[in-house]
Amino acid sequence: MSEIINLASKIEEQLPAELVNFMQVAGEVTASQGQSLYLVGGVVRDLLLGRTNLDLDLVVEGNAIDLAQQLIIKIKQGKIITHPRFNTAKLQWNKWSIDLTTARSETYAKPGALPSVKPGSIDKDLFRRDFTINTMAIKLNPSHYGELIDLYGGRDDLEHKLIRILHERSFIDDATRIWRGLRYEQRLNFQLEPNTLQLLQRDIPMLDTISGDRIRYELECILQEEFPEKVLHRAEELGVLAKLHPSLKGNGWLAKKFEQARQLSSPNLPPVGLYLALLAYPLTNEETEHLISYLRFPKSLAQTLRDSSSLKAKIQSLADPGLIPSRIYRLLHGYCPPAIVANSLACDSPVARQHIQLFLDKLRYVKSALTGNDLKRIGIAPGPRIKEILNLLHEAKLDGKVTSKRGEEKLVEGWLGRSPPTPPA
Ligand code: ATP
Repeated sequence: MSEIINLASKIEEQLPAELVNFMQVAGEVTASQGQSLYLVGGVVRDLLLGRTNLDLDLVVEGNAIDLAQQLIIKIKQGKIITHPRFNTAKLQWNKWSIDLTTARSETYAKPGALPSVKPGSIDKDLFRRDFTINTMAIKLNPSHYGELIDLYGGRDDLEHKLIRILHERSFIDDATRIWRGLRYEQRLNFQLEPNTLQLLQRDIPMLDTISGDRIRYELECILQEEFPEKVLHRAEELGVLAKLHPSLKGNGWLAKKFEQARQLSSPNLPPVGLYLALLAYPLTNEETEHLISYLRFPKSLAQTLRDSSSLKAKIQSLADPGLIPSRIYRLLHGYCPPAIVANSLACDSPVARQHIQLFLDKLRYVKSALTGNDLKRIGIAPGPRIKEILNLLHEAKLDGKVTSKRGEEKLVEGWLGRSPPTPPA
């Protein structure tokens, strides 16, 4: 019989007391009903690795929604969000969010389809998972609290730094695991176990069975990693990146630009849109449109990609050292900030970069002091003329030709002094 490993002290050391208490209470409540509760997945892996992870996933051999309802009464605070179709619940209180699912087994009717799910034991629930390092669980019932369940060699693979699938058809059943495997490999500095690597390469064509939405989700997860460029580089090396789009590159250029994006965004991570715009920078307008429709990006990300692509065509104009501020403003106004920042990082011209910086730091905030109402008061009839004059005032202010409200009034009076009032062209 294999030795029993108890991780209770690791739980105590590495997780906040509030979460530890919660798990103990949850274990007691579950046991009092003759059922079993487990901590599973990424958090168990990370407890063993000593990495911070506060995303608790609990699995109950019972009914997750019923249990969540009892627990919310017990802790006397928070709320639950339930998904009766999958019999799962999310419990939220203070800053914590805990996923509770009913142990289940899965079967795949055809590659890439969402699985059919039915209630099952913890063994089956762990077997449906992606990689051995994610198949470990910890018992939470008081009589066995802290005991590690490791049915598929997860601990051994953690020790040998290996990413290993559980069975030959894993990538065929669900090819998103290809992207997930590369993400774990690069995040943890592990290696794909040789047979897993071979099967991954064999099954790359199975990525075609996955919907754009699911692939986009995986890409967004990658772009929230500490060093997404490592995953993208590996994906290019293995021919996985080309499945997103053949013109995408995970090269040294991208690594340099991602690093600059991080420096710029520090202490936060760069927004996903900025990383995406840099990744898509080598694409033509048409290729960008293909990527947008394949991955079905939501509006704001699609806009960032389109803006970035169309701004790229203006870099040559922005590289003219003689540009006056109002012209810089006109070239950049209306584009979303992540697209502008992406172009600043990606372009080769130091002059264009300086102009973009001037726009981002200063020009985009410049407003004329006079408003449309002020102009009506001065005697300009309502109509398109007002807009024209406001634009001219704005340009004058951008170019430093006027610096005060009084100055603006004088300028307008000067224009009106001509008969009929014609602002300068
Ligand atoms: P992360 O550390 O990135 O949050 P995680 O391990 O918590 O990773 P999630 O994406 O939150 O991963 O998924 C929770 C668990 O569900 C995983 O540990 C894994 O066991 C399982 N899982 C998620 N996606 C799949 C999949 N496509 N196929 C099989 N199992 C999966």
